[in-house]
Amino acid sequence: MNDIDPMDFRHRPGSADLIALEGLYGAKNYKPLDVVLTRGQGVFVWDVDGNRYLDCLSAYSAVNQGHCHPKILAAMVEQAGRLTLTSRAFRNDQLAPFYEELCALTGSHKVLPMNSGAEAVESAIKVARKWGYEVKGVPDGQAEIVVAADNFHGRTVAIVGFSTDPTSRGHFGPFAPGFRTVPYGDAAALEAAIGPNTVAVLLEPIQGEAGVIIPPPGYLKRARELCTEKNAILILDEIQTGLGRTGKLLAEAHEGIEADLTLIGKALSGGFYPVSAVLSNSEVMDVLHPGEHGSTFGGNPLACAVARAALRVLTDEGMIENAARIGARLHASLESIRADSVKAVRGRGLMLAVELHPEAGGARRVCEGLQARGLLAKETHANTIRIAPPLILTDHQADWIAEQFEAALR
Ligand SMILES: *Cc1c(COP(=O)(O)O)cnc(C)c1O
Repeated sequence: MNDIDPMDFRHRPGSADLIALEGLYGAKNYKPLDVVLTRGQGVFVWDVDGNRYLDCLSAYSAVNQGHCHPKILAAMVEQAGRLTLTSRAFRNDQLAPFYEELCALTGSHKVLPMNSGAEAVESAIKVARKWGYEVKGVPDGQAEIVVAADNFHGRTVAIVGFSTDPTSRGHFGPFAPGFRTVPYGDAAALEAAIGPNTVAVLLEPIQGEAGVIIPPPGYLKRARELCTEKNAILILDEIQTGLGRTGKLLAEAHEGIEADLTLIGKALSGGFYPVSAVLSNSEVMDVLHPGEHGSTFGGNPLACAVARAALRVLTDEGMIENAARIGARLHASLESIRADSVKAVRGRGLMLAVELHPEAGGARRVCEGLQARGLLAKETHANTIRIAPPLILTDHQADWIAEQFEAALR
């Protein structure tokens, strides 16, 4: 018999043990900050040593509603005890209300439920190609999709095949043909790239992973016009920008446009469960017939119940308006920081970034300094720090974040 009680706190592995174990057994496809988290509540997370941090990443905007939101938790626990998975071979009683509520909220006509963000992107590519052949009349095998340089749409082979980031795509080929890349934010280049075989244009309304890159005003509107004129589908990947992050339900609303296919994921479950969806506001989705696409877990009752609760609290608790208001406040305080290392502050709502001058010693070092001050943020590329706290942030917490940045940057 082992006389050590594994639940006894004195024998709990510390962060150093857990970090070493991770390195021993895990694939090394991430380089996380050396903080081992064990609990989260609202905007805060706690590490195994009992330190508290304000989370300024929100799991890449998957926990917009805050960690362990009690109402989403209750929906998850209730549903998990009742029915979790039927597969789509049978119907479940959560799917229809999930569709209805999501369509009412987003003004969509059709929903295709999936799990991860990358699956939503893959699904949209399949739908757009099928529409191209069957409705637009593109010759079989010739469909083209126009994408932007510096995009991030996920990690599957098809998706990294049209990434321009050498780290994401290097040695993962051969890749699927049928994608054409244009510079992001350049409407003339987009216009020139759309040809008779173009079935879709796929864009992020704001490029998150590229460093919170906001396109010039009018760009998305022009992309919408071009797609309408040239009979191509506009696909907006709102997996990161959507569900309140930028201060609107969907970032497309900042330019008053509507995509034909909108992709959401991440915060669709408030961080409890992988749930994604392709939303359609046209007849595009009707090209899919039984057996042509699917997913064992897509549209399962647990996912639907969790997503319904996650959407409800987002609107009921005013999180989208809060993101707009607090985001503007935080943006202004970050801009007022006088530190030589800061090259630019940009963002919309609570999707913000501070870009440092290349000679400033790198964003990673600043993130480590912020960690020591009780704030978790992650660098994106070498010189940019993204700031994307949960949308329930208070004025006081926003001011505190700006103070920590000021101190860490000096
Ligand atoms: C995170 C993200 C994805 C991929 O989502 P996963 O759930 O990680 O597959 C796709 N597009 C954008 C814009 C994202 O931010």
